[in-house]
Amino acid sequence: MTPKIVTSFIQGKWVEPKEGAHKIKIIHPADEKHVSTLYEADANEVKYAAESAKQTFESGVWSKTSIDDRKSVLLAIKDLIVENKQEIAELEVMNTGAPIAQAYGRQIPRSAMNFEFFAEFISQASNPIFDQNPDYITYVRREPIGVAGLIAPWNAPMALATMKIAGAIAFGNSCILKPSELTPLGFVPFMNLLKKAGLPDGVINMVNGRGEITGAAITKEEKIDVIAFTGGTETGRIIGAESGKTLKKIVTELGGKSANIIFSDADFERALDAAMIAIFSNNGQQCLAGSRILVEKPIAKEFKKRMVERASNLIIGDPFDPRTEIGPLISKGQIEKVLSFAQTASESSETNILYGGRRPDGFEKGYYFEPTIVEAKNNQTTICQEEIFGPFATILEFEGIDEALQIANDSEFGLVSYVWSTDIRKIMKAQAEIRAGVVWVNTPLMRELRAPFGGYKNSGIGRDGGEWSRNLFTEEKTVSIPLKDFPIAKLGGISGE
Ligand code: NDP
Repeated sequence: MTPKIVTSFIQGKWVEPKEGAHKIKIIHPADEKHVSTLYEADANEVKYAAESAKQTFESGVWSKTSIDDRKSVLLAIKDLIVENKQEIAELEVMNTGAPIAQAYGRQIPRSAMNFEFFAEFISQASNPIFDQNPDYITYVRREPIGVAGLIAPWNAPMALATMKIAGAIAFGNSCILKPSELTPLGFVPFMNLLKKAGLPDGVINMVNGRGEITGAAITKEEKIDVIAFTGGTETGRIIGAESGKTLKKIVTELGGKSANIIFSDADFERALDAAMIAIFSNNGQQCLAGSRILVEKPIAKEFKKRMVERASNLIIGDPFDPRTEIGPLISKGQIEKVLSFAQTASESSETNILYGGRRPDGFEKGYYFEPTIVEAKNNQTTICQEEIFGPFATILEFEGIDEALQIANDSEFGLVSYVWSTDIRKIMKAQAEIRAGVVWVNTPLMRELRAPFGGYKNSGIGRDGGEWSRNLFTEEKTVSIPLKDFPIAKLGGISGE
């Protein structure tokens, strides 16, 4: 059942809806119906959440609990997400329009896995000891930082937010989540299961509202010690600048315009299957989309033809229908943005729309946009340089590896990349020279949670994943203890004594 209203969740309770609060309509993107109402948290409510989180942290009820106890709570959260998978997935689909097969099959299981991963990680993690100096033992302690502010985007709300939540609390912090104002619904059943999992009140809190109000209050709040942000590059700049004023530690995972390089010696069919997934899954709204497809000249004509065929066969429809492969985009604003790129592509002599570029027939309501493939003559065109964030692929041709790498790196972004080849020398040159945080070789998106994830250039600062999340969410303390007494100079003592 869709909750009628969504308020903040602070200290284990839903905040009573306030009369004068700013209200935001939550819209189902497939039919544009108003399905719920969000009551925005203002700066005072964010302050209250931060004070509660800080008090909880300082009480030690979670921050000082044993690793084994923390691990069992994280595993209980994972089990409860799995138990409630259907409800959470349906609320996500109601909010985002992502096809249910993808929300139920991938995104909600990934949310559960985030908790399982960090439960296992903390039970195995160790700290260095330095014993090279025979007179001392020096070791490193890891301690939680305090309160984490977690600001999440709308494209995969639960999967991305829970990666931050699980990381923050695994290491003993309290946290305050701010989902996108467009996508609070899946978090309602999630917050409701925390008590049952045995998590003390006040460890996970949530405030909802617009970025420039609720989000900005998080970045300004002195009681928040660290910010983990996923979202657009411009927002990342604002959050970085604001967080700097109170010297918060920060990680930002931002936009992308990732190159998917397909050499003529690649396994053509696998590369085609993977190219479809990389640009059209999650309705194309993913930071790691392979949105610039670079195809080597000898296979380019055939590749375009086959990709257009496949795009024309994609099943566009009701996101609740398990057969649907493409649902609506998230919002009116997003479809207008994507349509404006299609317009730009149709007007430029440098680009040619091979398929799509408009709303599909038969969908009077909803933010539906046809899967779109555009060939570009030049990587400098707007549609090759800007992040579109929709089911919108651009295809560029290249000749030889040097040109492929030059085009791949000719971008302000550097989040991920894909390389398709059967020639190990090409693969090794490409993986070394591509300026991006991830190189996937002969595979579509593969997220290894033990490894760092994050971007070069305007795709972000810092990384998350295993050890890198630990670096973000902990302070390191170096402790040195002498192993024997040795003379200490007596400053201020009487000389000779
Ligand atoms: P935005 O940057 O618009 O928003 C991200 C979050 O930041 C939202 O919760 C938003 O709130 C909040 N926010 C906006 N302005 C501020 C502010 N001034 N201070 C604090 N918080 C603020 O991104 P979208 O939600 O539109 O998500 C799409 C973007 O996210 C794409 O560019 C995509 O590339 C990127 N992304 C990156 C990923 C990665 O791992 N690198 C993964 C997924 C997405 P609200 O929405 O309520 O305004």
